[in-house]
Amino acid sequence: MTKPPASKVISDIDYEKEGRQVSRLFMPHSHNDSAWGAVAIPVVVVKNGSGPTLLLTAGTHGDEYEGQIALLELARTLRPEQIQGRVIIIPALHFPACQVGKRLSPIDGRDINRSFPGDPAGSFAQALAHYVTNFLLPLADVNIDLHSGGRSLDCLPSTMSHILDDKAVLERTIALAKAFGAPLHVMNREVDGAHTFQSTAERMGVISMSSELGGCNRVSLDGLAIARRGIVNALVHLGIADGQIERPAEPTRAMVIPASGDYGFAPASGIYCPRVPLGAIVSAGDAVGDIYRIEDPELPPHPVVARRAGMLWCQRGQGRIQTGDSSAVVVSAYEAAP
Ligand code: CA
Repeated sequence: MTKPPASKVISDIDYEKEGRQVSRLFMPHSHNDSAWGAVAIPVVVVKNGSGPTLLLTAGTHGDEYEGQIALLELARTLRPEQIQGRVIIIPALHFPACQVGKRLSPIDGRDINRSFPGDPAGSFAQALAHYVTNFLLPLADVNIDLHSGGRSLDCLPSTMSHILDDKAVLERTIALAKAFGAPLHVMNREVDGAHTFQSTAERMGVISMSSELGGCNRVSLDGLAIARRGIVNALVHLGIADGQIERPAEPTRAMVIPASGDYGFAPASGIYCPRVPLGAIVSAGDAVGDIYRIEDPELPPHPVVARRAGMLWCQRGQGRIQTGDSSAVVVSAYEAAP
């Protein structure tokens, strides 16, 4: 096996050690008030014998909170005797972004989820992505990276994965999503998806799932409940924990966003006003919202129309919108290829 390029990350974690370890990943960060300082990213590793490894992450975007809370709870409580295998938990991965509750890092202005597979000599986000790619993902059979809509989006609580060409991997990912038990599992072709955590994990053969559990820069109680139940269900599904999968009242519906052009890029700038709530069933061409232009009271609002028939799944999570922002996304029912 070739040795991965050295990382700047300093840690006393031994991922092969049995038992429970609570420590930090120290990413050096030299600044005016801390010459030899580091950003300390909490990590909890729980291992008991042989079995699958689940890498659980949240806080990849700092303004997405349900996953951070659910993983903080799991990190505080999970004990080796409850599992067979290994669980690596990082509740606030892009820690500087999480500290300020923003999508991007205040250190380098980067979105870590556009910085993969990373660069050990790059900026903070690039060096952290490199550590994840080269030191965490090679240990993992499965990665669940918990996201929400952040301040800019509001999404129906869902798990997410990519539309994959490998049918066996696709089926394993859908089975994981159905065990997790969110109301919807949405499969997509991402906007600018080549340099994400998830696409990197997929290229490395790791079963990879994320989520959208709410948005609008606040905590969704529904989304948090789904995350709490889903994580335990995933541990049982993967054979890491004993127990029964707690099924939701309605089984998970598999949905799809077929093309990256379906993200509803806004046709104008202004204030986005939804016409229909999330979950509404719409036809292609239906107006789902309006953009009000404050510059000219004589201009009528610019309608935003659904590109396809389906369910309104995501819409703007804050009032102001700029031309090109994602305004409204409709998902269609997924029909497995014969
Ligand atoms: Ca996100």
